[in-house]
Amino acid sequence: MAEPQPQKRAPLAERAPGQPDTVVQVGPVAFGGPRVVLIGGPCAVETRTQILETARHAAEAGAAMLRGGAWKPRTSPYDFQGLGAEGLALLAEARRATGLPVVTEVLDPRDVAAVAEAADMLQIGSRSVQNFPLLREAGQSGRPVLLKRGMMTTVEEWLNAAEHVLAAGGRDLVFCERGIRTFEPALRNTLDLGSVAVLKERTHLPVIVDPSHAAGSARFVKALALAAVAAGADGLLVETHCTPTDARSDAGQSLDAAAFADLAQACRAVARAVGRDL
Ligand code: PEP
Ligand code: MN
Repeated sequence: MAEPQPQKRAPLAERAPGQPDTVVQVGPVAFGGPRVVLIGGPCAVETRTQILETARHAAEAGAAMLRGGAWKPRTSPYDFQGLGAEGLALLAEARRATGLPVVTEVLDPRDVAAVAEAADMLQIGSRSVQNFPLLREAGQSGRPVLLKRGMMTTVEEWLNAAEHVLAAGGRDLVFCERGIRTFEPALRNTLDLGSVAVLKERTHLPVIVDPSHAAGSARFVKALALAAVAAGADGLLVETHCTPTDARSDAGQSLDAAAFADLAQACRAVARAVGRDL
């Protein structure tokens, strides 16, 4: 008689024996295929000029998707919270101008429908990774989900968070490592590239890396991005701004147009060295 199989804790997110990689399509963009997907854009959508200019330089450098927060999870309630619905409209305009599909964070389950209508992909931020009602709503939205790792979440908890999205009916999900909190204060977070290797084994879903929130400082973003591509990441989420010094959130880690183009070029070389492209 066959041995009973151990129960999988996250059967939809975890890779079944022999299961091939799942490619997640966001319009024309494929996560988990031979191409490393570069997502670029500002931390927050601030003005029409800012998002259009930034989207243009990101596209020129080779970004395949545009990011930008309309609702920002800020530590202080007195800091810029984002433009909300107006930000969504500006992102949609930037998509029309550049052709880049858009990913943006949804913070509140009540905003999921509006974000799903305007954006091509829903971002669930670090602070929301275990907001289970939000995960369920996102899973029911019909849109692909970009699930950031929480700053205090284990890989096991992260896989289970993804399971909530998939169990609610979501089919397309991409994991995004963005650094965790450790004893080391030299950078904003500690980029755990080990999690990329572990997840590539444990899940069939794509895994990308956000070097910007891991580094916290523009000087270190490129080094982390290069390492992420070498480690097998299926994409990068990088903050860039037309005038970083004016950024209303995450100014210190935002790359200007030249630094973003330089990162893209360097990461393309690493991607090719590991048999991929960007
Ligand atoms: C962001 O992408 O701007 C963001 C807030 O990221 P995280 O949720 O990883 O902190
Ligand atoms: Mn940010």
